[in-house]
Amino acid sequence: AANINTPDAINEAIEAGAHGSGLVRTEFLFQDRQQPPSADEQADAYRSILERFPNDMVVFRTLDIGADKSVPFLEQREEQNPALGVRGLRLGFHTPELLDTQLRAVARVAGVGRMAVMFPMVSIVEEFVRARTRFVELAAAEDADVSSVEVGTMIEVPSAALSATEIAAEADFLSIGTNDLLQYVYAADRTVGEVASLPDLLRPEMLRLLSSIVTAAHDSGRWVGVCGEAAGDPTTALALIALGVDELSASPRRVPAVKDAIRSTDTDTLASALATALKGGGTQVFTALAIAHGTPS
Ligand code: PEP
Ligand code: MG
Repeated sequence: AANINTPDAINEAIEAGAHGSGLVRTEFLFQDRQQPPSADEQADAYRSILERFPNDMVVFRTLDIGADKSVPFLEQREEQNPALGVRGLRLGFHTPELLDTQLRAVARVAGVGRMAVMFPMVSIVEEFVRARTRFVELAAAEDADVSSVEVGTMIEVPSAALSATEIAAEADFLSIGTNDLLQYVYAADRTVGEVASLPDLLRPEMLRLLSSIVTAAHDSGRWVGVCGEAAGDPTTALALIALGVDELSASPRRVPAVKDAIRSTDTDTLASALATALKGGGTQVFTALAIAHGTPS
């Protein structure tokens, strides 16, 4: 699947052979304007995306504003640690008209295609339950049948990763946002170049955490995706597949190389590469998987 951050990305995703989208970053509908889009305007945009992927799942993420993302019509509050502040779903709870309007729009397009909605920056299961309940209430008010809409959450905060079992009991799916999850696990700001090399998805501690999330999801019969940039790196994508991740969603231009890597690697090789990886360090993992892929790098 491909991540969709802009209208152009829809064509790019289709041309790249992506099967739907595991992450529509809906912020692009809200940026560069003085007023947020109405529910009708949003519904039109969501419908047109769904119509472009008639056979594949499209996952709409509710607005993820705050920290590294801003919109002109909301004054960004002064916070000492914006990455730890009112962002993502937290901002949705603080400005309910924004979240409600978006959830109404999503409910209005239910049934147009295979679709899901998910929430960013969930820290504890209660936040997810509150957001899901609100979606169901608003859908009822819209007279929309949302029984076919999957409702899931991003796992991008360590506390959410550690409560994956509780969250999976309530959610239809989990989607791991490795960009933020790595930032928070390694306490390394994703916007600060000097610390950018510290987080490493292929290190054993991170692989163990990811493995526990996948196991928690599967134990509850839920699927689990990864929609962070890591999903677009062929070698890392192999590690994610080896861990049992069910869906990868990456930038459109990365999709062909990821598909190629997965198709040219057999599962036994992946399993043994993962076993090596869990025992060893990042470099060892990388080498093992690159050899498995047949393109040592
Ligand atoms: C992530 O954190 O991995 C993610 C996909 O969300 P974003 O990059 O939009 O914060
Ligand atoms: Mg994120």
